[in-house]
Amino acid sequence: MNNSDKYARMFSNCIPVLGRNKSAIYDLQRKQMFTIPNDLYKFIQLFEEHTISEIVELCGKDNKEVVEEYFQFLIAKELIFFLAKDELELFPKLSMKWTSPGKISNAIIEISEITYPFFEKIVTYLTTLGCEYLYIKIRTAESYIVIKDIIEKLTTSSIFSVVFETKFNKNEKIVDYEHLVTENKRIETIFLLSDEELETSSSKILITSPEKFVDKKDCFFTVNLTLFTESQKYNTYFNKKIFINRSGDILNAPETEEVFENITSTSYENLEMIIDSEQFQKYWSIHKDIIDECKDCELRYMCVDNRVPRKSKEGSYFFTTECELRV
Ligand code: SF4
Repeated sequence: MNNSDKYARMFSNCIPVLGRNKSAIYDLQRKQMFTIPNDLYKFIQLFEEHTISEIVELCGKDNKEVVEEYFQFLIAKELIFFLAKDELELFPKLSMKWTSPGKISNAIIEISEITYPFFEKIVTYLTTLGCEYLYIKIRTAESYIVIKDIIEKLTTSSIFSVVFETKFNKNEKIVDYEHLVTENKRIETIFLLSDEELETSSSKILITSPEKFVDKKDCFFTVNLTLFTESQKYNTYFNKKIFINRSGDILNAPETEEVFENITSTSYENLEMIIDSEQFQKYWSIHKDIIDECKDCELRYMCVDNRVPRKSKEGSYFFTTECELRV
C-alpha cells in the first residue's frame, strides 16, 4: 500500500459509535449514518496509534483481504484520509461541547378553546425563555384559520421553526395550506391527518391517516452535529422541553404525568421558577449512555426516543416498555 508509513484518520465529522451487535459511523456533515460490523469499529480504533503497515501486520496475513476491503470501504465512502506523523496534531478531534443559550429550546403546545385565547401570552413567555422551536397540535374545530392566525402572531417573535399537527377538515383546501407554507419560512412541516387520499406538491406538507401517524418511527432519528453533541450528556427528547396541554397545564412532555402549573393563571416569574427547578429538569440529564437498553445501541446519538426513563434501585435507568425503533 502506497500510504504504508502514514496514519489513517477519520474526517473529524465522521464518528464511529460502538453498538452491541453492530456499530455505526455518523457522518455529521453529510447527515448520514453508515452501519458497520463491530470488527470494522475495532479496526478503526487501531488508527489511533499505528501506521498502515503496522495495522496490516497486526491483523495478520490471513486477514489481508479483509483489511484491504475495510480500507476500500472507508476510502470509497470518503470517511478517512492519510497523513504523516508530523501532521497528526494538525487534525484535532471534533469538540463534543454542546451549549444552548435558552432555558427552554422547544415547546409542544396543544391549541384548544382554552389555550388559544392565551397564545400570545404563551409565545411571549416562551420567547423570553429562549425557545426557538414549536410543535403545535391543533385541537380546535377550525384548522387552517387557526394556523394562519398563529403564524401571523409569530411574525415578530424569535421563534425559528414551527411544526403543525392538525386534522384536515373536509371544507378546507390543500392549496391554501400550500400557499401558507410557501409564504411562511417558519413553517417546517404541517402534518395533515386525514383518512382521505389527498395529494400535495409541497414537501413540507405530510398527509397521513391518524393511525399511521402514531407509528412515525422515522421522525425519531436525525444525524447532525447538534443532536450528536447534545446526546452525549442530555436526553435529547426531554432536555429543555416544555409541554402545554389542551387544558393549559404545564408538563415536561405529553408522555409525562406531573402537572406543574397552568399557563392561563401563571406569571412569567413563576414559570421561570418552575423551569429552573430540579423537579422540572429531572429527565434532562438522563442521556442514552446511562439507560440500560440504550447504552450499547449504535443509534443512541441520533435517537430522540420519547419514552420516560425510570430509575432502578441500583441507580441505573430503564424503560418499562421495549424499544420498537431498533431493527
Ligand atoms: S430507544 Fe431504541 S433505538 Fe433509541 S437508542 Fe434506545 S435502544 Fe436504540
